[in-house]
Amino acid sequence: MTLPPILRSKAALQEKTQAWKMAGEVVGVVPTMGALHDGHLSLVAAAKQACDRVIVTIFVNPTQFNNPDDLENYPRTEQDDAAKLARFGIDAVYVPDVDQIYPAGFATTVSVAGLTDVLCGAHRPGHFDGVATVVTKLFRQTMADKAFFGQKDFQQLQVVRRLSMDLDLGVDVVGCPTIREEDGLAMSSRNLLLSDRARVKAPALNEAMEAMAEGLRAGGNATDLGAAARERILKAGFNEVEYLDLRANDDLSLLETPDRPARLLAAAWLAGVRLIDNIAV
Ligand code: AMP
Repeated sequence: MTLPPILRSKAALQEKTQAWKMAGEVVGVVPTMGALHDGHLSLVAAAKQACDRVIVTIFVNPTQFNNPDDLENYPRTEQDDAAKLARFGIDAVYVPDVDQIYPAGFATTVSVAGLTDVLCGAHRPGHFDGVATVVTKLFRQTMADKAFFGQKDFQQLQVVRRLSMDLDLGVDVVGCPTIREEDGLAMSSRNLLLSDRARVKAPALNEAMEAMAEGLRAGGNATDLGAAARERILKAGFNEVEYLDLRANDDLSLLETPDRPARLLAAAWLAGVRLIDNIAV
């Protein structure tokens, strides 16, 4: 298996994508921050199915980190990532140098209102501005027709959908299911930061959410079930539940019962690591 070509400049990327677009090929992009796991690889497989050409981007985007330690500690495993991508036969891995995304004097921010006021947006100031800005740049630079995002980051998926529509970016945003470990923990690059002891406790988040979803389906309300679920998560050894909300799929408005298509979304801290998860109700 040959390693995919790694491109580090916008010019090298665009030389390729321009030729593909001229030939009428459908170009897909899978934006990531690297430390690839089976969740990311499921997006790559979906992209391969739907597109003639697939670009995986790896960029640990400094502007979406609201905490310098988090940026510093974020896992970086570029060689392993390239090896994991080899079997998919993708066309390029775009690992831009920072100045290819943020050239000197960069002064523009893309901001999506409303959807970003709640959940992770409320707890991580500036995070979604960073995401929206880098995604806009990556969509333009790759000239992608389709982009593949995980439902694992459900709010991000909805923000990117809104952005692509609002700015006429012409990118079809495809949401793909969350891939989990056998014990139910949603795969995440941040799971690498969990100690063995913390890793054993981590599935409690999803377990409590599944139980809460079951209660909601049986007619319970989010206030009562949420209080019980929070208690269960803390009892399992988590340090803090940042949010555990039932929200409407489309506009992320807060719900008490799932009387329209809804998701349960949570963020919680375990031994210094922030884990997020969400499930359909
Ligand atoms: P990240 O590298 O964490 O920025 O994630 C890159 C893309 O992979 C995003 O679209 C995520 O939603 C997606 N992703 C991350 N974890 C998973 C997972 N467990 N299942 C499916 N997609 C995922």
